[in-house]
Amino acid sequence: MNSQDITQLENALHFDNTYTRELPADPENTNEIRQVTNACYSRVQPVKAGAPKLVAYSREMAEEVGLSSELCESGEFVQVFSGNNVLSGMDPYATCYGGHQFGRWAGQLGDGRVINLGEIVNKEGRRWVLQLKGAGPTPYSRMGDGFAVLRSSIREFLCSEAMYHLGIPTTRALSLITTGDQVIRDMFYDGNPQLEPGAIVCRTAPSFTRFGNFEILAWRGELDLLCRFTDYTIRTDFPHLGEPSKEVYCAWFDEICKTTAEMIVHWQRTGFVHGVMNTDNMSILGLTIDYGPYGWLEDYDPDWTPNTTDAQGRRYRFDNQHEISKWNLIQLANAIHPLIGEVKPLEESIQTYVHHLRDTWQRMMADKLGLVGFNKESDHTLITDMQVLLQHVETDMTIFFRRLAALDVHSHAAHSPSVHDLIEHFSDAYYVSEQLNDEYKVRLDTWIEQYRVRVNNDRTPDDLRREKMNKVNPKYVFRNYIAQLAIDKAEQGDNSMVNELLEVLRNPYDEQPGKDELSQRRPEWARHRAGSAMLS
Ligand code: AMP
Ligand code: MG
Repeated sequence: MNSQDITQLENALHFDNTYTRELPADPENTNEIRQVTNACYSRVQPVKAGAPKLVAYSREMAEEVGLSSELCESGEFVQVFSGNNVLSGMDPYATCYGGHQFGRWAGQLGDGRVINLGEIVNKEGRRWVLQLKGAGPTPYSRMGDGFAVLRSSIREFLCSEAMYHLGIPTTRALSLITTGDQVIRDMFYDGNPQLEPGAIVCRTAPSFTRFGNFEILAWRGELDLLCRFTDYTIRTDFPHLGEPSKEVYCAWFDEICKTTAEMIVHWQRTGFVHGVMNTDNMSILGLTIDYGPYGWLEDYDPDWTPNTTDAQGRRYRFDNQHEISKWNLIQLANAIHPLIGEVKPLEESIQTYVHHLRDTWQRMMADKLGLVGFNKESDHTLITDMQVLLQHVETDMTIFFRRLAALDVHSHAAHSPSVHDLIEHFSDAYYVSEQLNDEYKVRLDTWIEQYRVRVNNDRTPDDLRREKMNKVNPKYVFRNYIAQLAIDKAEQGDNSMVNELLEVLRNPYDEQPGKDELSQRRPEWARHRAGSAMLS
């Protein structure tokens, strides 16, 4: 090949497409909505974008895949990551998966608005799948058009990068590009569709395989393919487990149970509510995947869900996420059972999930409170009482923990702050000051004393406790109303807030001078504002 024909991006990205090379393709090549059986994917080309423009890119992700800032800011980059220019080495495809939605088997789902470009291997040998979300229809588009709008693309792009910097396992995002085309959406599902700007996020992950990829094969009785796909997954994504065998399948499921538990505990630590934990949205790598109607707890309300279509049953509420994960893991266990032929090892792994979740949660809560370790004698009560306290009046979870870290407690009771001072100290966290009645004040005073005694048992000095707490309790999370402010601006053509947030959310645990505003509790105007309080 003449080197002048090779673009700079082709030089930088080293493709090695195991998925399309090793797994069976849909023999049909037409891009029509259909059931795709006996195949793991369909080849499909992205739709060309009318006038693509770069909104933002993640420099950490760019570096990880081997792209310089200069390349990311080039015209060629926009052409490639809007789907307009398919590089040699890419082999675009959409994968086939199914899933349980809201507790019911939904049959084939698949990449309906995602087109994978291929897999690259970086300089360090790490594998990344690059995929475009919103690049047009695929055989799996069902009732959809395969496109994505700017507001949901901003939410996915910024949140996945924010999660990464919070230390939460997640899929990543390389770029956010507006297509220059309009997309029709009925935002409130009320029969008033509107034109909205279209956008494409280039998402990345070592693998996007979901529980639903295994479920669809099991439900269709395609057991040979189930075995082949599982072996492929183990060899590609879990090479440390060794060559596939019955024992390795069991070890593999056990690992999925553990990583899923760890992901959930991270969500509990930071107040993240996924919103649609269907089995097609559960990653086998334990990554947070598919950022749709997610949200962050504002006032600590364990029953809260950001998903308006789930407002009745609240299946995916904050405090139910660990139960739902377990339910989802059981669906995966059912799907892979034919490979193992025994129920017992799978049941044992589900027990592992329960125990690992409990142990990880206890350690996490001890860290959040700045304790040396979780004391089984005292800390259940300490935490339960705190949860009651936080719900007694609307209290911002994120701000509460930062203020708790800032409180001096390593002193004698005689020098403890008065209730008045305590209320003042936590004032930034309270949503409705009228709720701060005498009963609450007594509770607060009592709990802080309980906490003071507990911390003093550890003999941890305040400054050390503060330092430790501020490493696990973020100052900045991607607050729902802040996302909406950035979206409002971007829809007017001003991308500055998207880029400002990308920058601030890189260091979520640090104090950032001049950026306090982005850490503040939701203002009253946003309480019922669509997009910040209600999403679906
Ligand atoms: P989600 O709720 O995002 O996990 O999506 C569930 C299923 O619907 C997946 O198979 C998606 O690919 C598909 N889907 C969602 N939105 C669209 C869209 N705009 N066009 C085509 N398919 C979609
Ligand atoms: Mg999904």
